[in-house]
Amino acid sequence: QQEGIRLTLLEINKKAARYYFALLKSPRGKVGYDYLTGRGLTDETILHFGLGFAGQGGGELYQYLKKEGYSDQILKETGLFKMDERGVYDKFWNRVMFPIMDVNNRVIGFGGRVMGDAKPKYLNSPETKIFDKSRNLFGLNYAKRGKRNNMILCEGYMDVIALHQAGFTNAVASLGTAFTEQQANLIRRYTDEVLLTYDSDGAGVKAAMRAIPMLRRAGITGKVIHMEPYKDPDEFIKNLGADEFEKRIEEAQNSFFFEIEVTKRNYSMSDPDQKTKFIHEIARKLLVFEDKIQRNNYLEAVAARYNIKTEDLQQLVVRYGNQMP
Ligand code: ATP
Ligand code: MN
Ligand code: MN
Ligand code: MN
Repeated sequence: QQEGIRLTLLEINKKAARYYFALLKSPRGKVGYDYLTGRGLTDETILHFGLGFAGQGGGELYQYLKKEGYSDQILKETGLFKMDERGVYDKFWNRVMFPIMDVNNRVIGFGGRVMGDAKPKYLNSPETKIFDKSRNLFGLNYAKRGKRNNMILCEGYMDVIALHQAGFTNAVASLGTAFTEQQANLIRRYTDEVLLTYDSDGAGVKAAMRAIPMLRRAGITGKVIHMEPYKDPDEFIKNLGADEFEKRIEEAQNSFFFEIEVTKRNYSMSDPDQKTKFIHEIARKLLVFEDKIQRNNYLEAVAARYNIKTEDLQQLVVRYGNQMP
């Protein structure tokens, strides 16, 4: 019963994706097509990701799926429609559409972007019986087959698509929500190294600071790719190209050093009291390393970098370690 519903929802999503794709390629979808090609996407990329266009409003997708014989009850469960006393409307209209696929290439939901500056910029399918945002990653169906021994984790659909088009087919994105522990464990099935390329704005740094400990707990080594002066990988690639991005990958920063550098921004190093607090915070952070040798290696590296006596830092770490539950 439940399994039957799930299969029907997958079937409807597939039909919806095909509908949006056909529309994009039709005269009515030209605005969407022009938008995507204007952002540098090729026909091949559009086909590869099955990008589409949701029409001009009303209920055209609804009417199409009704003709295909689906009941209102099941259509409601897709999350693709708004149903109220006044009628049924397509949730997505006048947006370019990004089908979200699970690792088995099945369409489980959609993201839709407005083509201008209207808000909300992105609209996503709600959680449904087949769409659990916390347990899927955009692009993973392609990234898992990649030849590289790591994955690139970024923020947005366009970042993933631009990276894949530039040859970085190991890029994935969390789905418009904060990165989750389940997503970290999902990635761990395929690789033990993640290159973080979150946006270089405040929100991106915050998100990276939350993702790094989660990756670590899942047994994944994190590294941070810096994209300055650009905001995200999509913009970076557009401006500097794939070779420069490859260089940034080679220069990727150890995620522990990234965490320490971000933490350091909260303290003024010229003030002895603040510098003391900063060093105490480093000592506490070093406790995340349970492997004694690894902890020592980090301790020595950090001590050298911030001009702290190794023995002093060592003592502090032992002291905080003894306070641990
Ligand atoms: P673009 O390059 O198209 O402007 P972006 O990916 O750079 O988009 P960000 O604002 O950096 O956009 O957001 C990153 C990701 O977060 C998006 O790709 C989308 O998945 C999600 N997101 C952004 N805005 C919203 C929103 N209003 N509602 C839900 N998800 C959103
Ligand atoms: Mn962002
Ligand atoms: Mn962007
Ligand atoms: Mn962005």
